[in-house]
Amino acid sequence: MSLEDYRKKRDFSKTSEPCGYEALVHPAPIFVVQEHHASHLHYDLRLEIDGVLKSFAIPKTPPIERGIKRLAIQTEDHPLSYADFEGEIPEGHYGAGTVKQWDKGGLVIEEVKENEKMLFELSGSKLAGRYALIKTKYGGKRNSWLFFKRK
Ligand code: MN
Repeated sequence: MSLEDYRKKRDFSKTSEPCGYEALVHPAPIFVVQEHHASHLHYDLRLEIDGVLKSFAIPKTPPIERGIKRLAIQTEDHPLSYADFEGEIPEGHYGAGTVKQWDKGGLVIEEVKENEKMLFELSGSKLAGRYALIKTKYGGKRNSWLFFKRK
């Protein structure tokens, strides 16, 4: 696991985001969605896998119902302590803007194929049920995935 990219992008003397050095253990894996009012409003989906939060930026409201597919751009892994973060990232800094909790709950991983697919079950108050992230070839270098609710 590496939080190097996460730490490189941030100046922890300026932002109240966690630096992620604290030892944190959750009794069971969690997911969180944070509503991020940055230059463009988006939703950050984070899944606890292998001791970090695998992170995806979703430009539109995450799918509560089946039949909606959302683009999800994979971003740098975040520390587990980020799951509780809410607040203001100061102007001029990475991700400047307001972060609010949008949903949170349990995560059960069904299958993970690195750079291919992730199948899992979420038990949040908005996102509840079986979901998938499927990697797309769209855009070549972009870390594009599709996020949707399954049967
Ligand atoms: Mn964000």
